[in-house]
Amino acid sequence: MTTEHSRRNFLRGRLSQPEPVRMRPPGAQPGFARLCTHCGDCARACPEAIIIRHESGEPVVDFARGACTFCNACAQACEAGALKPAEPADWPWRATIDASCFSLNGVFCRSCEDACEARAIRFRLMTGGRSVPVLDQDQCTGCGECASTCPAGAISFEVPKPAVEEIRA
Ligand code: SF4
Ligand code: SF4
Ligand code: SF4
Repeated sequence: MTTEHSRRNFLRGRLSQPEPVRMRPPGAQPGFARLCTHCGDCARACPEAIIIRHESGEPVVDFARGACTFCNACAQACEAGALKPAEPADWPWRATIDASCFSLNGVFCRSCEDACEARAIRFRLMTGGRSVPVLDQDQCTGCGECASTCPAGAISFEVPKPAVEEIRA
């Protein structure tokens, strides 16, 4: 294959990548993209100020700013019906810790464990006295508290695969 062919295939591959799933506020309804008028009322109603405007105009949750208490204030403010009050159990996002975590790199830190009320993060002692975080997604509520306190920015969020297509709607 020529260099030009490889480059073209590489670019085609990149262009066909689906856009990352956006973290819409809790209670996002099927057909959200059609229903949401980009009015911003949900963001103004959020007492935690964690809803920001995505470049598309849609509201998205930003856990770098704080955690969600699942208070439903955002959904109650949404007159368009794009958000509806929901139970915390309906929130599909779960935390995951990546390789930039301080503890995984030998620097002491337990901020996420301390922040997690659900006790979804435990530290496992390794040989040599090092402790590394282990996150149990079955215990995780996806509240975001750990992400807003992680000094390494090592915590991100993902949804279980079957729920992804529904969330894209
Ligand atoms: S449920 Fe409450 S805390 Fe969570 S995003 Fe909505 S308004 Fe903010
Ligand atoms: S209040 Fe409803 S319609 Fe307005 S930006 Fe938020 S989700 Fe969209
Ligand atoms: S998102 Fe919330 S429940 Fe999940 S690990 Fe982080 S602090 Fe714990």
